[in-house]
Amino acid sequence: MPGLSNRVQTFTDSVIRRMTRISDEYGAINLSQGFPDFDPPKEIMDALAKAAYEGPHQYSITFGAENFREALARKQGRAIGRTIDPDKEIVVTCGGTEAMMCAMMTICNPGDKVMVFSPFYENYGADAILSGADPIYIPLVPPEYHFDMSLVEKGFQDGAKAIIVCNPSNPCGKVFSREELMGIGELAVKYDAFVVTDEVYEHMVYAPYHHTCMASLPGMYEHTITCNSLSKTYSITGWRLGYLIGPEEVIEAAKKVHDFLTVGAAAPLQEAATVGLNFPESYYTELLETYTKKRAYFLDGLDRIGLKHNVPQGTYFVLIDIQEFLDLPQFAGYTDLEFCEWMIKNIGVAAVPGSSFFKEDVNHLIRLHFAREEATIDEALERLSKLKELLK
Ligand code: GLN
Repeated sequence: MPGLSNRVQTFTDSVIRRMTRISDEYGAINLSQGFPDFDPPKEIMDALAKAAYEGPHQYSITFGAENFREALARKQGRAIGRTIDPDKEIVVTCGGTEAMMCAMMTICNPGDKVMVFSPFYENYGADAILSGADPIYIPLVPPEYHFDMSLVEKGFQDGAKAIIVCNPSNPCGKVFSREELMGIGELAVKYDAFVVTDEVYEHMVYAPYHHTCMASLPGMYEHTITCNSLSKTYSITGWRLGYLIGPEEVIEAAKKVHDFLTVGAAAPLQEAATVGLNFPESYYTELLETYTKKRAYFLDGLDRIGLKHNVPQGTYFVLIDIQEFLDLPQFAGYTDLEFCEWMIKNIGVAAVPGSSFFKEDVNHLIRLHFAREEATIDEALERLSKLKELLK
């Protein structure tokens, strides 16, 4: 058989999505890949039913249906604090995944350096490879996941063309403070670089923390490419609706990349999701209340069992420290991936091994999420409590 490209030899499939497949195979409770087990808002489902009969069923404009972009410009214009031009400053993509890939392909030449905080959402590794970029990793140091701003400056001095900022951060739940974002932003301006943000958890930021859009900071709009998605905000991860917002010159180029990658996001789904983009502010307040309760419920349960975990400032992910189990003779030589596979088969709960998020050699963390109905969380906690019996 003829050889395949070099690039496909250099990364694996997504471990997050692989864990979902293994979880399904064994009928485990899937707390690995982050997506809710509850329905989207009824208004959105009704709009989808309507779209089934009234359309649209043909291509939307390649960079997004007009009404969808207009609604998006209004909603994100409020968040960013400026008027967004729906024709010139937005590209609608097939999920946040395409948004990030599109951003990277738009700004990177092969060999360009891009800074990535570690731990990072695993897609960024493959995004870098597929766009030809060389990542420079900046450690986020637990327990607060602080970082050293001088390393960011060094990265820019070494020629980094961009820095990816996932805020709130998957998997560690860090919410970047305004001061941290200003610091990064000032350096991006000083070294004439881009900040590419991933803000898909923007509405899951728990008090007393606040979400700040990088693009809203003074002077930052021209340097920021905001990647985002409707998946988490409206509980529609399977609809694959995402977008880029940025300055016109960047977006005009990104439109071309997007057009030839996918032509466009699904037209009937954009039509139905427009209803969500037009929801009043109260929708986002209630969404946050729901997740605030779920976070407390899940973390309390973990504390009752006695599992060591971080307290996420944002997102619906929690990192659990499994070192005490790995120290048992039964797990001698286990990687975190092997432990997760064991957990699916023997405990009935699926997690993502932490090593898929860290550049550093980290083997003692697993990621769980709590975007689940309470009854499912109860059952998952009941199963997880069996882990502790191993220590007796
Ligand atoms: N962001 C979610 C996670 O980290 C899932 C994303 C995906 O699989 N596309 O689990």
